[in-house]
Amino acid sequence: MANKPVEYNATVTHIQKITPTLAIFRVQGDTAAPTFIPGQYAILGLNHPERGGVMRAYSIASAPYRHAEYLEFYIRYVQDPTSDNPLTHLLFEAKEGDRILMRPKIQGHFTEEKTMGTADKRLKILVASGTGLAPFTSMVFEKFHQTGNTDGYAIIHGASYDYDLGYRERLDDIMNRGTAKRYIGTVSRPKHLDWHGYVGRVESHFEPGKIEKLEEDLGLGKGGFNPNNCTIMICGLQGTIQNTITNLLHRGFVPGDRKLHRMFGIPEDVKPSIYYEQYDTTPIIDPKNEQLIDECIERLRKNGIPAQKPAPEVAATGA
Ligand SMILES: Cc1cc2nc3c(=O)[nH]c(=O)nc-3n(C[C@H](O)[C@H](O)[C@H](O)COP(=O)(O)OP(=O)(O)OC[C@H]3O[C@@H](n4cnc5c(N)ncnc54)[C@H](O)[C@@H]3O)c2cc1C
Repeated sequence: MANKPVEYNATVTHIQKITPTLAIFRVQGDTAAPTFIPGQYAILGLNHPERGGVMRAYSIASAPYRHAEYLEFYIRYVQDPTSDNPLTHLLFEAKEGDRILMRPKIQGHFTEEKTMGTADKRLKILVASGTGLAPFTSMVFEKFHQTGNTDGYAIIHGASYDYDLGYRERLDDIMNRGTAKRYIGTVSRPKHLDWHGYVGRVESHFEPGKIEKLEEDLGLGKGGFNPNNCTIMICGLQGTIQNTITNLLHRGFVPGDRKLHRMFGIPEDVKPSIYYEQYDTTPIIDPKNEQLIDECIERLRKNGIPAQKPAPEVAATGA
């Protein structure tokens, strides 16, 4: 049976296809979108002629100062969708001028206010794979608009190919103005001989033996990539989030997520330093993967964090 159709209240005003399966969409509401906080998301919806309406969440990639003109979204066409009415398959057929639903309520807690807090002076290291970059462009574009610099932020963005690193030129321009690198792109399948940047999945650069180069390039000094100097925000799919967190446990970082706190038996009063937003639904760490959980607890304990494996029923339910 077809889903109830959604009611259109906005227009797709601009589409920039980066590749056939990766694009930036600008959407303008019939009435101006409300303002929002960088890191939040909107719900977009479209109608399939037979299958009816479908709605999905998308992080807002543009800065709040643009909200009266448009909201911008950085979206990947999903090749292997899990639903029978995938929104990205409709969206990638859309043309400029087409109508769309953009729900007026903007939502989400993946903001500085709701994570480390706006008064936190540590360097915010924003780790993204693919379209997980979106909340971070909103943060740095707003900061640049307000102050003329992006001080306090570093972005590390991973993609398969260099041409998949959306927003690369603009981020390189506004973020890499000093001696320390503050925008780093990394590609897992370098195709072009003239790619001289980082190679490998974004999370691999936090592994012991590789993080040393990263901290040097970021101007943090030897051993400086630690929670005294930095906080971490990660956005994307489960694999990136899991591997970034597990690698950074070596450096004493503590995840803020309550489920992981319980899984690793981290006392309530230990302050977190890693936050994330996940685009898929796979558990960040499989509660049945006891070996990985034990390794994570060991890494935390080595850094003086009194983590302790909870009783099996607590770990399994996350209760
Ligand atoms: C808070 C939030 C913000 C989001 N923001 C963005 C965003 O800014 N840009 C964006 O492209 N997606 C974003 N997503 C994912 C988006 O909501 C949809 O899940 C995605 O577009 C797939 O929808 P679909 O209907 O085409 O496919 P579905 O039939 O729903 O298929 C779901 C499948 O798509 C995979 N998937 C979901 N997102 C991605 C992705 N980005 N890249 C590759 N595979 C993916 C999932 O692993 C799952 O297997 C966000 C999700 C959440 C929860």
